[in-house]
Amino acid sequence: MHSDPNCIFCKIAAGQIPARKVHEDDELIAFHDIAPWAPVHVLIVPKEHIGSMMEVTEAHEALLGRMMVLSVKLMRELGVTNGYRHVINTGADGGQEVPHLHLHAMGGPRPWNKG
Ligand code: AMP
Ligand code: ZN
Repeated sequence: MHSDPNCIFCKIAAGQIPARKVHEDDELIAFHDIAPWAPVHVLIVPKEHIGSMMEVTEAHEALLGRMMVLSVKLMRELGVTNGYRHVINTGADGGQEVPHLHLHAMGGPRPWNKG
């Protein structure tokens, strides 16, 4: 599986730096965002180093589907019952800060810190 030794999310996926994990399987890891916008804010991250949505191809269709479905399961498990927001930032103009593909799932009672 492709990994980038300088990438923070690859390091989290490899267990080299800590994160508040809420899910892990062969392909995906999910953990709480370190600077949450909302009462519940998790990131769903493929273990494979995919830089952004700009690198996605048909080969990733199942993976992207799994990310979406997992996010719904996690929102339910984390007690988010009144709606949530999905965000994927892509590239410089998309406001992407960490260059490893990730899906934000945010929920919980408003007001939120941001978003
Ligand atoms: P983006 O702008 O979509 O690239 O978002 C990157 C997100 O990663 C931000 O919401 C950060 O707060 C979050 N983040 C950065 N480093 C960590 C980390 N070590 N653990 C958890 N979340 C992180
Ligand atoms: Zn990476």
